[in-house]
Amino acid sequence: MTTASVRKVTRIIEPIYVMEGAGVRLRRSIATRQLDYVDPFLLFDHFGSEDPQDYTAGFPMHPHRGIETVTYMLSGEVRHTDSLGNSGVIGAGDVQWMTAGGGIMHEEMPQVVAKHLNGFQLWVNLPAKHKMDKPRYQEVPSANIPTAAPAAGVTVRVIAGEIAGVRGPVTEIAADPAYFDVALEPGAGYDFPVSPDHAALVYLFSGSASFGDADVAATRLIVLGEGGIIRAQAGGSGARFLLISGKPLGEPIARYGPFVMNTQEEIRQALQDLRDGTFVMEP
Ligand code: FE
Repeated sequence: MTTASVRKVTRIIEPIYVMEGAGVRLRRSIATRQLDYVDPFLLFDHFGSEDPQDYTAGFPMHPHRGIETVTYMLSGEVRHTDSLGNSGVIGAGDVQWMTAGGGIMHEEMPQVVAKHLNGFQLWVNLPAKHKMDKPRYQEVPSANIPTAAPAAGVTVRVIAGEIAGVRGPVTEIAADPAYFDVALEPGAGYDFPVSPDHAALVYLFSGSASFGDADVAATRLIVLGEGGIIRAQAGGSGARFLLISGKPLGEPIARYGPFVMNTQEEIRQALQDLRDGTFVMEP
């Protein structure tokens, strides 16, 4: 047993269906009327469908400024190209951590390759002093994402942060995030250590589990209160969830579509830069 305090569930959010991009139907649980943001996390989308009509329209060329976007795929593929000259495919188990900084244009197009497209996109805020940094990519193929087994029946793919001595490959992110893909066998449980100064979320996408004293069934986003531990225990059919934490920035947020800045003036500037053709930053 440990003396660190167990985080309590403060919000349980049922994702809502929205249409995004050129007509992608996805489930959104952060950046809605219910839940605007959880500093430093600005948006959370789950695209998952067996019907290609829900996703093939994709996300044609669009800008971002002031944020990082994290795309993690469970199955299927997303093709991408961007103004840095990168292009490639994010496939099953891969992660792409994109720092938009001061300006990037990119295209994200889900492909029809698997029966089920299933993946997630998280937006992480950048602190004011890094919002206009040069854009950057960290693309990590599935094979380079290590797995931790901190207890019996507990398997963790470690994308960012550290657990049980296993460190994720995504590093040097301002919010100092942890991003774990956790699988619990039926009845298995674990006390996940979390930095006490981090905001923490769980996205339960399969099965059921208790978090602290709240029983939750998929699919839900769970916001946790303060403490040093997230106590998770799977129900009878096991559970699969993302566990995400990061350091809140505590800065003012001005958002407009794909831009998240600190002031309305900076949003106006982003739109002006787009019109002037000066938006995209050199790699
Ligand atoms: Fe995008």
